[in-house]
Amino acid sequence: MNEVGKLLIKHPITIKETLGQLDEAGSGVLLLTDAEGRFQRTITDGDIRRLLLAGVSLDDTLGKLPTSESVVLSEGFTRQSALELMNQHSINHLPVLNNAGHVVRLLDRKEVDEQILLSSPHIGEHEREFVEEAFRTNWIAPLGPNVDAFERELAEYCGVKHAAAVSSGTAAIHLALVLLGVGRGDRVFCSALTFAASANPIVYQGAEPVFIDSEPDSWNMSPSALEDAFRDAKATGRMPRAVIVVNLYGQSADFDPIVEICDRYGVPIVEDAAESLGALYKGRKSGTFGKLGVFSFNGNKIITTSGGGMLVSDDEEMIARARFLATQAREPAIHYEHTVIGYNYRMSNILAGVGRGQLRVLDDRVDARRKVFERYQAGLARHSVYQWMPEPSWSRSNRWLTTATLDLPRLGMGVHDLIRKLAAERIEARPVWKPMQLQPVFAQCEYFPHEGESVSQRLFETGICLPSGSSMSEVHQERVIEMLDKLVA
Ligand SMILES: *Cc1c(COP(=O)(O)O)cnc(C)c1O
Repeated sequence: MNEVGKLLIKHPITIKETLGQLDEAGSGVLLLTDAEGRFQRTITDGDIRRLLLAGVSLDDTLGKLPTSESVVLSEGFTRQSALELMNQHSINHLPVLNNAGHVVRLLDRKEVDEQILLSSPHIGEHEREFVEEAFRTNWIAPLGPNVDAFERELAEYCGVKHAAAVSSGTAAIHLALVLLGVGRGDRVFCSALTFAASANPIVYQGAEPVFIDSEPDSWNMSPSALEDAFRDAKATGRMPRAVIVVNLYGQSADFDPIVEICDRYGVPIVEDAAESLGALYKGRKSGTFGKLGVFSFNGNKIITTSGGGMLVSDDEEMIARARFLATQAREPAIHYEHTVIGYNYRMSNILAGVGRGQLRVLDDRVDARRKVFERYQAGLARHSVYQWMPEPSWSRSNRWLTTATLDLPRLGMGVHDLIRKLAAERIEARPVWKPMQLQPVFAQCEYFPHEGESVSQRLFETGICLPSGSSMSEVHQERVIEMLDKLVA
């Protein structure tokens, strides 16, 4: 990764030769070594300039150079110590020496200074055109051609008949529950291992969440825990009004058994595909397996409109009703007639323009995130401490986030320790979602574990999410891999 070789120079060498090599290396710095290859000092453009100004000629050798103590690092340095040294000496490069005094790499400030984020927005080439079009036509808000087109294009991409663009994924889940008639006192089953936004809208409706555990193969809703919950609900006469099934970290839940169970009990599914746009289940696009499907375009998702969401369904009436409810439930009358409570949940025409551009690069983003995952897996393959999130044969995940569980006893530290160590290297990592049954706000809710084991809890206690953005450079990924490698070694 570090081509130190072309930076090394040895006595005797002339000023002219040194300038030539500086020019070729393009780094602004060379590394002078003794005959045994042990590092002596760095040579910069400035050093040569000062020699020339002092009257040294181009054909003289570097022997005329005053000796100087160069700042160096030894292997195993920390990012912070490197950065402090660089700041202290106002330099951007530091040679890293091994025990024998040989340079193993030249550390660039950029490598240690830039923060590596979990999942950054990644804008393509076309977003600006659609947004500019909206400005040019003064079609800023609220609705307009970009919204209509974004809905059409996303529906087409997913192979679903209808879509309503809204202000967030959470709003889409809320509307889905309203459309399914979820109200006060109702129960709604929901995946336990998820972000709180999957479950919060249940409470907005005055209903009661019941959490269903994960199964180990996909980390998503356990069909057997779901069956247990339905059996209990039937026996006690407390059937749910809906089931919210989440596709975690870009991977679909195992829908064949889940749909079979829900159909048998006659309860509709809301598919929370906020994280899984572009993923597949048995070749079919994620988000199309429930009565209603939900996507999010929040800033950290696989594509983004800075903030936004989409509700999709084959049911034309439901989507029309969603659009109506999302625009304050205004009846068609000039005096603003209202017969039901509405919401201000629509997406603006500007943001839909961003969404249209993002949709065009969605498949590239999926490929890029899958590649990020593959590099982690390959780069750390020799450490069985890292157990990567499995991908069952029926799944093609979009690998929104690369996640792994850790063999903590062998790692010799906890998930939070590991995250702190990565943070000290300016690498953002997170634990796996804290399951809803463990959240103080949902502590009173019922919970059905998977075959006697709380899989979601185990995944939370041992799981980690790594930086996975589609725009993440290979250098940055190497930095993460190196750190994870070093922490195990
Ligand atoms: C992001 C997310 C949501 C919420 O989407 P927003 O657009 O942020 O409101 C819901 N469910 C899951 C699983 C998510 O990851």
